[in-house]
Amino acid sequence: MSQETVQPKWRVDKLEVFITEEQLRQRVAELGAQISRDYEGQDLLLVAVLKGSVVFLADLMRYITIPHSVDFMATSSYGAATESSGIVRILKDLDMPITGRNVLIVEDIVDTGHTLSYLRRLLLEREPASLRIVTLLDKRERREVDVPLDYVGFEIPNAFVVGYGLDFAELYRNLPYIAIPKEGFFDDDD
Ligand code: 5GP
Repeated sequence: MSQETVQPKWRVDKLEVFITEEQLRQRVAELGAQISRDYEGQDLLLVAVLKGSVVFLADLMRYITIPHSVDFMATSSYGAATESSGIVRILKDLDMPITGRNVLIVEDIVDTGHTLSYLRRLLLEREPASLRIVTLLDKRERREVDVPLDYVGFEIPNAFVVGYGLDFAELYRNLPYIAIPKEGFFDDDD
């Protein structure tokens, strides 16, 4: 490890649970059941956006009872900052063509909407049979560009959240709940 690498402190004591593990389990099960009904008898490809949506995807796909496949994309994220730049970069494209397929984008959270709006346009150019979006969290009041969301887990207020796949400086993705930082969470070393 280089000397410049600064490992942020693990401050789980400065987090407040916002959506519990049980609430997540229940809602993800509902979404899985609804998606299974809507795509019954049809082809389905889940496209997950790395890395934030992997925990949601892993749970959601086990509640989807119809045959489906998964593929991954990676876009540039905020890094260690907590505000969106509005600039989206594709870091990893899909492995498989999507022409003629029913694509369901699986997102962790929609904030300004820039990431999804860009991704949606990019995937539509490849002429899928259909393109829908499922997001676990929707920060609707922060929206700068309109994106049609077909399935929403929870609408949340304008606050930075971590856990259940969502990170701060690459940490906290493993928390089984969604949490909001309390006072002191973002402070430099004390
Ligand atoms: P948008 O382009 O909609 O502004 O941002 C979408 C992406 O920003 C999400 O996929 C996620 O990676 C990141 N993001 C937005 N809000 C939050 C948040 O509250 N917490 C975390 N950890 N990431 C967020």
